[in-house]
Amino acid sequence: MRGAVMYGPGDVRVEERETPRMIEPTDAIIRVSAACVCGSDLWPYRGVETMQWPAPMGHEYAGIVEDVGTDVQTIKPGQFVVGSFWATDNTCEICQAGYQSACVDRVPMGALGAQAELLRVPLADGTLVATPDIPSDDLIPSLLSASDVLGTGWFGAVAAEAGPGKTVAVVGDGAVGLLAVLAAKQLGAERIIAMSRHDSRQRLAREYGATDIVEQRGDDGVAAIKELTNGLGAHSVVEAVGTQESMNQAIHATRPGGHVGFVGVAHGVAIDGMDLFWSLAHLHGGPAPVRRFLPELIDLIWNRHIHPGKVFDLELPLDEAADGYRAMDQREAIKVLLRP
Ligand SMILES: [Zn+2]
Repeated sequence: MRGAVMYGPGDVRVEERETPRMIEPTDAIIRVSAACVCGSDLWPYRGVETMQWPAPMGHEYAGIVEDVGTDVQTIKPGQFVVGSFWATDNTCEICQAGYQSACVDRVPMGALGAQAELLRVPLADGTLVATPDIPSDDLIPSLLSASDVLGTGWFGAVAAEAGPGKTVAVVGDGAVGLLAVLAAKQLGAERIIAMSRHDSRQRLAREYGATDIVEQRGDDGVAAIKELTNGLGAHSVVEAVGTQESMNQAIHATRPGGHVGFVGVAHGVAIDGMDLFWSLAHLHGGPAPVRRFLPELIDLIWNRHIHPGKVFDLELPLDEAADGYRAMDQREAIKVLLRP
């Protein structure tokens, strides 16, 4: 079986990997229809985060079930399924409360390597959601996006309490930020401010529902958002980057009593206690419990109410995964879809 493996910073190879096989009776094996490169894959690619090399890559996936273990009850061979980047039981107390990404039995899908032809999915009943039928090809990018970036952007918007009458600002114009714009629109936000200085990303943000674009960053970006909100700041701010600058920007752009939803994987971020004290903001975020939203998101995609797959602006055969990493690293592509 072919699969992408990272050997070190900047070094991704697609090579023959051991074919995954059933280990637990709760497992499923799926044939991956589409996988992709995540913004978070760029942290090790850039050497910011270290891994145990060589590491199989990829945690976003959609595909057809090939086989299921003897204890799997709801998922059947032949179904098209989407799962989150955590395999989860979906039955423990934490899952039931809607925080599947902190499931007591969770297994990180990244360790199993979804940028591959075949994938073992643990806890299949709790992890996978089947579509009503086999999707037409044009729906596959959108369904794949639900596996992570759409679900993460959605959680960011929910955590920031985006909704009717609210002004929502989104820090970050990567796939997650753009899909947080889409989510804010779906959740009924009145005004959506996208922070972006890239033409093509601004266009997609507007298509997804952004009413205003702010190009400035840092304190200037905060000042621009204040100016658009009568000096008050936004009700809801989604932080979708994970740097010190983006987190500061998010907290400072939020009005007193407002909410920050932070979903960028934080790297070197420290929050000043006094700064937070005076902000009077609510902070909620972390690894998105994508599984909570999957049934609803799949339904919206299936009925063509939303088109999150547009964030994939480059599609490559799996064998060219290295080019996909390079394109995302150089910001030549927003997000790269890989077809095994
Ligand atoms: Zn659980």
